[in-house]
Amino acid sequence: MNRKQYQETGKTDEHPYPISFSKEMLVFESGKGVRLTDAAGKSYLDFGSGIAVNALGYGRKDLADVAARQMEKLIHVSNLYATVPSMALGERLLALGNFDAVHFGNSGTEANEAAIKFARIYSLHRKGKGNHKLLCFENAFHGRTMGALSCTPTSKYQEPYAPLVPGVSVGKFNDIEGLQTLLDGSFAGVIVEVVQGEGGMSVMTPEFAQTLNSLCRKHDVLLIADEVQTGLGRCGYPLACEAVGLQPDIVALAKPLAGGLPLSATLIPAAVNHELHLGAHGTTFGGGPVTTAVAGKVVDIILDKTFLDELAVKSEHLDAKLREIAAKNPGLRGVKGLGFLKGLDLVDGGKIPEIMTALQAKGLLVLRSGTSVLRLAPPLVISIEDLDCGLALISETCAEIL
Ligand code: PLP
Repeated sequence: MNRKQYQETGKTDEHPYPISFSKEMLVFESGKGVRLTDAAGKSYLDFGSGIAVNALGYGRKDLADVAARQMEKLIHVSNLYATVPSMALGERLLALGNFDAVHFGNSGTEANEAAIKFARIYSLHRKGKGNHKLLCFENAFHGRTMGALSCTPTSKYQEPYAPLVPGVSVGKFNDIEGLQTLLDGSFAGVIVEVVQGEGGMSVMTPEFAQTLNSLCRKHDVLLIADEVQTGLGRCGYPLACEAVGLQPDIVALAKPLAGGLPLSATLIPAAVNHELHLGAHGTTFGGGPVTTAVAGKVVDIILDKTFLDELAVKSEHLDAKLREIAAKNPGLRGVKGLGFLKGLDLVDGGKIPEIMTALQAKGLLVLRSGTSVLRLAPPLVISIEDLDCGLALISETCAEIL
């Protein structure tokens, strides 16, 4: 590790991480509001939120105080015991829909892994052996552990790790006829995103949502909404399912839940809960008192009506500005996404790295999605002024490069 290098440049190419990480990385030291500061003191406006996690921005004393107070009281007891913060958060999350129990974990992939296991045990008990199949969709991203990875049908993620979990079929996203042909009672679950956050920012159509609702009910197949990226305000709703009328049985939440601490939640209905037995699934760290105490505060803030109303105004502004940018640049095909999870679709996706590097040099951090989309997921607390500041840089840089 070359300390001099990153103190002078804010970057390192001598980090201890595996080769699966970027060779050169920015080294961050602190953050405040919607800005990060690197080790050389350069400031960056953040339109990525640590991959859609930091909904409330950086340097939050309110969250730090909750965490510090809880750490003095109790940090960990394991899932052999209950704690007051995790029970309080659990009750709060169950109220998001028709849910009976919550399984806490530590990451998005774990939330989906739990959902997949719950679907299989439910189907085994209700329909008997052999009805274990899982349906996912092209360009989905559900995580990198073997179960979730098996439902992430992109070859660059899957190929080196075969054989995958058997019994997974892949449908075409938003293809109603295809779904009608594919789905039957031999499936245990369907796992789906409302917005394909990693795989190109396509949004589920309300018609597809309706078909999923009715076919899953008809065949007693559990409908799993992966709201790891879309949930808790990111798309303008407590759950993005609401935006398109999806009625999931199981919901997976993670990214923004604990303000940047690792926490996930898999929400299940009574019918699924009743099929579980003691020890059917478990976790050592999931739902500890510190992460859940912080999450209680995060959920209070995000699910407040005024917060969501203000977010709706900012989302409309973001959408309108992006449409203006796309309309005047022939290198842009259009705008994708929902709420505060938005993307600019490029005609030539090969230009994305150049755009991202140029924006980084100008002090703006953005994400990519799939092969051709520049993804924007700013902290939900960003002001209109800061949004405009980042959007001006995006417009200017697209004009320079595309
Ligand atoms: N599901 C979705 C929709 C995601 O966007 C992600 C991560 O980007 C995951 C699951 C996996 O989450 P994690 O990286 O926390 O395991």
